[in-house]
Amino acid sequence: MLKAEPIVDAQATLGEGALWDARRRRLLWVDIQAGKVHLFNPDAGEDESIAVGQTVGTVVPRARGGLIVAMHRAVAAIDPDCREPKILAELQSPTAENRFNDGKCDPAGRFWVGTISASRRPDACLYRLQADLSIHHVLDGVVNSNGLAWSLDAKTMYYIDTGTHAIDAFDYDIDSAAVRNRRTVAAVPADEGKPDGMTIDAEGMLWVAHWGGGRVNRWDPRSGRLLQTVAVPAAHTTSCAFGGTDLATLYITTARTGMTAEQLTAQPHAGDLFAVHPGVSGVPAFEFAG
Ligand code: CA
Repeated sequence: MLKAEPIVDAQATLGEGALWDARRRRLLWVDIQAGKVHLFNPDAGEDESIAVGQTVGTVVPRARGGLIVAMHRAVAAIDPDCREPKILAELQSPTAENRFNDGKCDPAGRFWVGTISASRRPDACLYRLQADLSIHHVLDGVVNSNGLAWSLDAKTMYYIDTGTHAIDAFDYDIDSAAVRNRRTVAAVPADEGKPDGMTIDAEGMLWVAHWGGGRVNRWDPRSGRLLQTVAVPAAHTTSCAFGGTDLATLYITTARTGMTAEQLTAQPHAGDLFAVHPGVSGVPAFEFAG
């Protein structure tokens, strides 16, 4: 079995949101609970971080430069020359305890971002931030919004609500951003851990980080079959993204939160950033168009 190796001794509380910024050849990721955006430069082997002062669910590059971050209950921009986040849009939702979690841009540059339920009930949502900075409410009844990816022909959107223990798909219309016909493409057995962050490879297969499973699995969304497993020596495996030269490296984030002192002793690399070369390449990530 392939095994991921630790590459950044980050010891993150809740590492998440891995995404390759091809324009600047760096891996973006976050430590949600520490409120930090991380920028990892694999050529220099250096990881730097920007403190945003509150939880940060995810980060994506912005086409005009800088970054877009999903802070506690607002989407903000971080300019390249100024590290102070500027609020672009605020979350208006009935459940004030819920915070922004994972998110990603679609092939048209809209930013899709969901919330996580503070009470772990289905009272979280998925939202879409348009280029004009208007926020649209897409889905209700979510427990823990995660794992977004779009098929290579941009006709399918893959989605994970970790609370359902499943990888789902929607028909997706790139012109209107409408999603329809939700169905489960892979039901995840409990012994694999819970499906969390997700990315797609150049063959249209899904790579899913499994929380509590210490692994990233490659799933075939057409058959629902499990194709391959990458072992990660950190049980709380949270997100993954292809990056580096030829998008041939799979970067993997992990967490320390929720582990006992005994587990942390047994898994000293929990919270670190990992990498593996699985023999297949990814596809470029999309930037926010607004
Ligand atoms: Ca997540």
